[in-house]
Amino acid sequence: MPYTDPTFLASCRTGTRLLHDARHRTEHGETSDAIFPTSGFVYDSAEQAEATFEGTIQHLQYSRYGNPTVDALQDRLALLEGAEACQTTSTGMGAVSCALLAHLKAGDRIVASSALFGSTHWLLDSLLPSYGIETVMIDGTNPAAWEEALSRPAKAVLIETPSNPMLDVLDIRHIATLAHKAGALFMVDNVFATPVGQKPLELGADVVIYSCTKHIDGQGRVMGGAILGSQKWITETLQPFVRNTGNTLSPFNAWVLSKGLETLQLRVEAMARNAARIADVLGDLPGITAVRYPGRKDHPQAKLAHTQMSNGGTLIAFTVANGKKGAFACLNAFQLIAISNNLGDARSLATHPATTTHRKLTQEQRNALGITDGSIRFSVGLEDAEDLIADIRRGAEAALRAGR
Ligand SMILES: *Cc1c(COP(=O)(O)O)cnc(C)c1O
Repeated sequence: MPYTDPTFLASCRTGTRLLHDARHRTEHGETSDAIFPTSGFVYDSAEQAEATFEGTIQHLQYSRYGNPTVDALQDRLALLEGAEACQTTSTGMGAVSCALLAHLKAGDRIVASSALFGSTHWLLDSLLPSYGIETVMIDGTNPAAWEEALSRPAKAVLIETPSNPMLDVLDIRHIATLAHKAGALFMVDNVFATPVGQKPLELGADVVIYSCTKHIDGQGRVMGGAILGSQKWITETLQPFVRNTGNTLSPFNAWVLSKGLETLQLRVEAMARNAARIADVLGDLPGITAVRYPGRKDHPQAKLAHTQMSNGGTLIAFTVANGKKGAFACLNAFQLIAISNNLGDARSLATHPATTTHRKLTQEQRNALGITDGSIRFSVGLEDAEDLIADIRRGAEAALRAGR
């Protein structure tokens, strides 16, 4: 029993379809989606099992290959992104590593921006070279560096925009043109912007990657990852890798993430409104020496952010006085904002990248990314903006006192 007539639903807008597109209502008529926590599926006959394995009929085989709850999430994510196909994974890093390892082979070359999530940086810096894959990491905000790096053939290009943690904004359209000229598949990790705030496929990307752990769950409950792209690439290149190496999302996590999608737009837009309001006043607080927010006019790529993002995002990077001592005093003085390296949560979270997420980089690498000892990455939640501003004021005053 479908929730709503599928033909009628297809005529509705994306937000409506995300709420009503559920194909698996059982005979009980439940309002919320049913969940299918099962590892396997039974066949009516030996003939049906044979036909399933031959591929002459469509029948679920095994949850490592497909599961109704996981498939429903994949369909919704593809709909939201405007992608032909989606493959989920157990975590966001599962998505990044599967996309790279499925696509690249020994002798291939990948070009990436150097401002990457910590584990992604490790994949490019340590793992891929050990498999004979050449990795080139450049300053993603420098157009000349892209032109130089992509003047030679490459198999893949990977970026994050806005980047972690300093929120650099990279020119997706320009990089897409260069990547395609070099023969590369262009992958964008869109976690910071979210599917609501930026549409990389419309700007020229071939593959979009998510950690669903972040805004898509958005309530700090489960981990998950997703890779979106063309039907051909997902089916022929990615799926054999994911299915045979076993990077599978659990039905329970898929169910939680599907529920997250019902309120994603509402949450992300409210968080971005909060972030814009806070970023506006942050620069005037004593004890804060710098503010980075893609929605602020003084962001180095403010104009670009305006053309490729639909809002300024839900993250702010700011610097407090007195270096590490100041940053620690600030974090420890917060009453509301929790110290956590997670992000995209309904609750506001802050982290000190230099000693946590980006601890493994050398001082030189951190300098190049603009991460100072006083930098704090702030993931803005759904609390009242004025309460958050009061909390940051408390933190910034503590940072000032730390210098005395
Ligand atoms: C969190 C994150 C990841 C990794 O996701 P996990 O779900 O933690 O494995 C990858 N890229 C970005 C930009 C992230 O923020």
